[in-house]
Parts: sequence; C-alpha cells; structure tokens
Amino acid sequence: MTAVSNAVVNDAHEQASFKMSRRRWRDLLGELQRRGDDRRESGAFLLAANTGDHVERVVYYDDLDARCLTGGISFSTTGFTELWRICEEQALRVVADVHTHPSTWVQQSEIDASNPMMARVGHVAMIVPSYGHARSVEECGVHIYLGSYQWIALPAGNVSAVVEIYGLFSRAQTRHFWNMLTRVFGRMTPS
Ligand SMILES: [Zn+2]
Repeated sequence: MTAVSNAVVNDAHEQASFKMSRRRWRDLLGELQRRGDDRRESGAFLLAANTGDHVERVVYYDDLDARCLTGGISFSTTGFTELWRICEEQALRVVADVHTHPSTWVQQSEIDASNPMMARVGHVAMIVPSYGHARSVEECGVHIYLGSYQWIALPAGNVSAVVEIYGLFSRAQTRHFWNMLTRVFGRMTPS
C-alpha cells in the first residue's frame, strides 16, 4: 500500500460531504429493508444536482439491474449504463453509494474496498447494518474513497461530519418535545 498524503485525505474529506432530508433517509432505509427482505444485501446510489450536495434522488441497484441482488451484490455494467443515462438526463451526479450488511459490522469487505462503485476521490460508500434496520445514521459505516483503491473510514460517532440528515424532528427530539408538552399541560390541568 502506498502512503497517502494529508493533502489527499483533506481534499477527499472536503468533497465527501452531502446532505439528505430525514424523510428521504427514512424512505431509503425502508426500501433497503424491503428489497433485501432480511436475507440479502441491497443498495442504492444517492444523487445530487451537478452543482449541489443535497440528495435529490435515490436510485436502487435492483431498479437499474434486476438481477444484482444475489445475497451479496453483483452490479453489472448495464446497470451503470442506465445510471449514467439518468444522471445525464437530469443533470445529477452520484455523491454516494449505500449498501446493507447482514450484521452490525459496517466495515468494508475486501470486495467492497477493491471494487469502488465510483472511482472518484471523495466518493462516499455507506454501509447500513442489519439489512437496513439502522436506528440512526451513526450506526452506519462511512468510507471515503482516496483513489488507488484506498479509503478512509470515519470513526464511529463522526458520521455527521460528512453525512448531514436534516429537517423534521428525530425520534429523540420528538420524544423530548412531547415530554415537555405533557409536563406543561399536566401542570395546567386542574385537578
Ligand atoms: Zn459490503
């Protein structure tokens, strides 16, 4: 393995960041679960506008290549042809690929690391645990491509430095808000 300079790592890190609405993130998890059916891996590409970093469209592997979910993932060149057609037509670019793993292990397999879906410096490969049953984005593996088959993995708890899920409230925030409301109204209700 050749040494990677700090400049390359910083450059890749800078290009890696993208944003996604919480609703789209939830939909993505639901679809990955459904398509994998708790018995096989599934995946998708996250697309943003050519000039932006907000995920505007999610394209699932099995919609591009109906036979690619084989337990693992065997994505074909015809699938890529279809992906490039969509990107070109709608002026979108691929910011990340996402795929599921069976367990809570979200590191890259040797196959994952040696077959980048997108050989672009700063491309993000996300791995969702438990066939898509992740409770939070922080449980996911986020791997940034540095070129030459080398990657950096974000340390656990640092995922939001690259993947920002925005909008609506998270379940924890909603619970907090609800508790506060009940406390206030509880006090106001005459006994
Ligand atoms: Zn994998």
